[in-house]
Amino acid sequence: MFSGVLKKMTSIHDNPVRYILDFDNDLLFLNQIIGKNIKIHKTGYCCLSCFENLQIFANGFCKKCFFESPMSGDWIMKPELSKAHLEIEDRDISYEKKVQLQNHIVYLSKTSGIKVGVTRSNNMATRWIDQGAIEAIELIEVPNRYLAGIAEVKLKDKFSDKTNWRKMLTSNIDEADIMNDKKIALDSLGSEFEEFFKTDSEVMKFNYQIDKLIDSVKSISLKKSDNIEGKLIGIKGQYLIFDDSSVFNVRSNEGYVVDISISD
Ligand SMILES: [Zn+2]
Repeated sequence: MFSGVLKKMTSIHDNPVRYILDFDNDLLFLNQIIGKNIKIHKTGYCCLSCFENLQIFANGFCKKCFFESPMSGDWIMKPELSKAHLEIEDRDISYEKKVQLQNHIVYLSKTSGIKVGVTRSNNMATRWIDQGAIEAIELIEVPNRYLAGIAEVKLKDKFSDKTNWRKMLTSNIDEADIMNDKKIALDSLGSEFEEFFKTDSEVMKFNYQIDKLIDSVKSISLKKSDNIEGKLIGIKGQYLIFDDSSVFNVRSNEGYVVDISISD
C-alpha cells in the first residue's frame, strides 16, 4: 500500500511517457500498474502551502492559502498580470521575482485542437505532458513572464488557450499542421517580438500508454467521493483512465491524503 499526500504525477518524456507518483518514502511507477485494479482512499487533507489538515479549496490549497499564498496569485493563470519586472508586489515580491524573472516560452501544442500557452523554459516537456499534448512547438523565448503573457494575449485571437480535456482523452484529434500554425503565429506576433522568434524550433512528439481508447468520459474526484476504484487502462496528461470510461485528474486532486492499493 502507498500512503501520502497526492501531488501531480511526475513525468518522464520517454516513448511512451512514463508517470510516477512521488510519495515521501515511496515511488509508485504507474505505467507498471496499467491493467491492474487501483483503489484510492481519501484519509484527510494536507494543504500544499501551509500543510494543515484543512479542506482543499482549489489547486491543492486550503481556502486561506488559495487567496493568500504567492504560489496562487492571479498572474499564474494570467501571465500578462505579472508585475515583478516593474518591482511591483502582488503577494510576495521575492517569490514573484524568482518565478517571473526568468526565461519563458510561448508555444503551440496539440491536445485535441491547437492551443497557445506559456511556460518557463526549463519546464517545457513537463508542461506539454501535463496537458496531454501529442505535439508541441516553441514560438518565442522571452526574458520574463509578463512579455510571454502579452504575446499569448495577442495570439488568443487566432488560437484557443484552453485544452478541451474531453476531446484530448477520447483522442478526437484534428488534423491541423502545427508547423503551418507556427508560421501563422509568428506572423501575428510581428516585428514587436521578432528578436525573440525561435525560427528553428522543431515539433516535439509525445506518445501515451493507453490500452484501450474510450469514446466518452466521466470525471471522478475525491471531492465528490472518498473512494476511487477501477481497472487502470491508461494515463494521459494528468489523467488516470479507467476501463468504465471514468477519468481521474490527479492534478485537480492535489492536497488530498490518500491510501492507494493495487490488485490484479
Ligand atoms: Zn493552507
